[in-house]
Amino acid sequence: MSALPAAVAGDLIQAVYFAAALLFIIGLKRMSSPKGARAGIVWAGVGMLIAGLITFLWPGMHNDILILTAIFVGGIAAWWSGKRVPMTAMPQMVALYNGMGGGAAAAIACQELVRGSPFAPAPVVLAVIGALIGAVSFSGSLIAFAKLQGLIKKSLRYRGQQLVNFLVLLATVVGGAWVIALHGNAPMQLVVAFFALALAFGVLVTVPIGGADMPVVISLYNACTGLAVAFEGFVLGNAAMIIAGMVVGAAGTLLTQLMAKAMNRSLANVLFSNFGEGSAQGGTIAGSLKPIDAADAGVMIAYAEKVIVVPGYGMAVAQAQHKIWELCQLLIDRGVTVRFAIHPVAGRMPGHMNVLLAEAGVPYDLIGDLDDINAEFDTTDVALIIGANDVVNPVARTDKSSPIYGMPILNADRAKNVIVIKRGQGAGFSGIENALFYLDNTRMLYGDAQKAAAELIQAVKATE
Ligand code: NDP
Repeated sequence: MSALPAAVAGDLIQAVYFAAALLFIIGLKRMSSPKGARAGIVWAGVGMLIAGLITFLWPGMHNDILILTAIFVGGIAAWWSGKRVPMTAMPQMVALYNGMGGGAAAAIACQELVRGSPFAPAPVVLAVIGALIGAVSFSGSLIAFAKLQGLIKKSLRYRGQQLVNFLVLLATVVGGAWVIALHGNAPMQLVVAFFALALAFGVLVTVPIGGADMPVVISLYNACTGLAVAFEGFVLGNAAMIIAGMVVGAAGTLLTQLMAKAMNRSLANVLFSNFGEGSAQGGTIAGSLKPIDAADAGVMIAYAEKVIVVPGYGMAVAQAQHKIWELCQLLIDRGVTVRFAIHPVAGRMPGHMNVLLAEAGVPYDLIGDLDDINAEFDTTDVALIIGANDVVNPVARTDKSSPIYGMPILNADRAKNVIVIKRGQGAGFSGIENALFYLDNTRMLYGDAQKAAAELIQAVKATE
């Protein structure tokens, strides 16, 4: 397509790729705060757009119609799904998009390996490594998607599973090494077998992992996709792919580590244990569950000086954020000091609660994270827990036998009174009992969080 001399076009393209990579980095930086997040997405999107457009100047570029058709179809599908997806389905959407990135990197590698272009030794190695990581990330992310979407309901576990997985990985690595040894002239059958093994490994290593652990796994695959893209960037000599891939790889790795740390679990524990699927243990808890009705709970919060709201996964399930904010506005109008406390792993994906509260219009300055707000519970009249469980379970501090022992929690139990909204006696993600619910200062307001919030609104209004 390019009418420019090849050398000029090459320099221009690389300069624009570099500018696009800078836009990705600026975008990522802006995404680190809720205020800048929307703009950050636009910056990164513009980077992607100019990187895509300039690629058409590549000397010798052909198949323009095919590429434009693919961009059109992909763009429409992404726009449509992005508009329709509910917040609670965001993790599986990320898994799907992430898997596509890994798959695209693997497809590039496949094309280059099959074409058998005269590689220098390094790019063959990089193409094979990128292909391996990208293919595993692709098939693993699809399984993660299927689990989170409820298409696969059970975690598949059997005796000797680790050995089978190890043998498949070994066969994949041997296949990759063979491709490398043939210096880019590997027969098609060998390349196909290598890819099939890598895809199979992604499936096998993901099927035993508990569905609720998937967000951590998705974050890990996200890091893998970034790395795969960076490797393929080297193969293609594409600066934007190298830089963007490295940034995604680093960001995904940090996020995976942060999530595992905030849950006080090692990555190995996430990958190889069936946490929350009936395997949980913990000591027995003294005390009883003391129900309260919405009218009494409404009086309690209406006459409080300070209320801290602790949202959790149940708020997301019930989509109660709008009603909760309506309730909080009533309280603020009455002169009650209201704050929101967000635990780093509340909900089922990083930033889950922040996104929901932002969607409801809660001002950022009312929201505190764990380190900011924990000391404030001591001077709080009511901690209002909305569908949160594990993130406020005090056994994490005291019970060494508990699977969540050591996980930092929100100190809701230190508030003068605690009101817990949940539907019944369902456990949280970890599958264990919550000692908070049995404390003398805790009352249980049973019901769906949205319905309970609506009843609280009426109860608070009735006190006026
Ligand atoms: P939990 O999963 O611990 O508890 C959620 C509670 O919400 C349940 O006890 C349930 O009780 C209640 N609930 C469910 N639906 C409703 C509803 N419609 N209305 C009211 N209540 C409802 O949530 P947390 O947010 O406290 O903790 C998150 C957990 O997820 C942590 O263990 C964390 O480690 C884990 N996790 C988090 C990830 C992240 O990135 N954020 C990733 C992976 C795991 P009931 O059934 O009785 O209503």
